[in-house]
Amino acid sequence: MDFRFTPEQEQFREEVREFLRQELPADWQGAGGYGDEGGEATRELSRRMMAKLAERKWLAMAWPEEYGGLAASHMQQLIYNEEMSYQGAPGSFSMGVAWVGPAIMLYGTDEQKQRYLPRITGGEDVWCTLYSEPEAGSDLASLQTKAVRDGDDFVINGQKIWTSNAQGSQWGWLAARTDPEAPKHKGISTFMVSMDTPGITIRPLINMAGQSGFSEVFFENVRVPKENLVGELNRGWYQVAVALDFERSGIQAYAGGRRTLERLIEFVQQHPDETVRRNPMLRMRLADRAVELAAGTYIAYRIPWMQSQGMIPNYEASISKLYGSELTQRLALTGVQLLGTYGGLEPGSKWAPLHGRLERSYLSSVASTIAAGTSEVQRSIIATRGLGLPRG
Ligand SMILES: Cc1cc2nc3c(=O)[nH]c(=O)nc-3n(C[C@H](O)[C@H](O)[C@H](O)COP(=O)(O)OP(=O)(O)OC[C@H]3O[C@@H](n4cnc5c(N)ncnc54)[C@H](O)[C@@H]3O)c2cc1C
Repeated sequence: MDFRFTPEQEQFREEVREFLRQELPADWQGAGGYGDEGGEATRELSRRMMAKLAERKWLAMAWPEEYGGLAASHMQQLIYNEEMSYQGAPGSFSMGVAWVGPAIMLYGTDEQKQRYLPRITGGEDVWCTLYSEPEAGSDLASLQTKAVRDGDDFVINGQKIWTSNAQGSQWGWLAARTDPEAPKHKGISTFMVSMDTPGITIRPLINMAGQSGFSEVFFENVRVPKENLVGELNRGWYQVAVALDFERSGIQAYAGGRRTLERLIEFVQQHPDETVRRNPMLRMRLADRAVELAAGTYIAYRIPWMQSQGMIPNYEASISKLYGSELTQRLALTGVQLLGTYGGLEPGSKWAPLHGRLERSYLSSVASTIAAGTSEVQRSIIATRGLGLPRG
């Protein structure tokens, strides 16, 4: 087994690092969490970074060149994601790049490809994902939002929930029911919806960290031109299922976690109190997290490696998502335990160690085992598809 990257890959890694050294502010602490941390300043930096990344064609580097990518290898994409996530750089993740664009590439018409894909790779359009509903999350096929054909339009009525970055998105990638009579998996279609269409109301939700990263989105007689249907009518469920596979290589959790661990180690090493530096319990926990991060990183590396060998990762991606999200929570817990009473102070407090990052991570990490498929759902996939056990 050879775990080394090739000289070309190492060179590319250095190029990404150099880019980040140039573009990120010297005091950059990382975007972190799922919220609106940093407010307008972070958003402005994010816009700037997107433009620079688009210039280099790095935003969607794995996409084919004809759609504005670099046809980069899976390993190159992994290296890019790893470096971006290690620094918590804005622009490192986009739903447009991760699954909307790939779905349009697979199922869209030529006209749709030409119109929408370059605006994703150019960083002009930001997309949100309109799947979950109050009564449809893990069991997404139960969704009730309806799209009814009326002349040249579809008319959308219903409610979505937990829509990340709904407010900051120009476009929404919507799954809606188009045949209420058909079995539930066979009556769903996917649409591209401009988020400023009349009849759409976005109501931000505040999470337990006080951030408003996601929203409820209400549709009241929203007219979407029939040209915005993507793929075949009533085949949306199968398109969503395929599109979701683009999301789950999982290196982000391990790369970001490695940076957090390094900060914690530095904190302990520089602590003036020797009892903290030598605290056996903290040392053991930090050592455990270090081992887990190393193991998780290789779990994540395996996925692009499989893709590079022509294999299609399936339950392997669930292993990475499950292990990475639960490790994110363990690491955040270790962090707040290590920082002691001060570890609970929010960013902005002058006494908050490590700029309050751990308090933020601790609260926002709760969502990591829910977003993009819960831990129970991942375990179920691993049990059935990975271990060959019957469905529970
Ligand atoms: C931070 C965050 C961002 C999100 N962003 C988006 C977004 O941008 N767009 C979007 O559409 N959605 C988004 N979601 C929604 C997310 O996809 C759902 O929350 C998730 O799929 C779980 O669905 P649910 O909340 O309805 O919980 P439920 O599905 O109701 O689950 C409740 C509990 O039951 C368990 N459970 C459910 N079914 C099973 C089963 N078959 N076997 C065992 N246990 C089961 C679950 O694991 C969970 O513990 C986001 C969620 C979060 C937390």
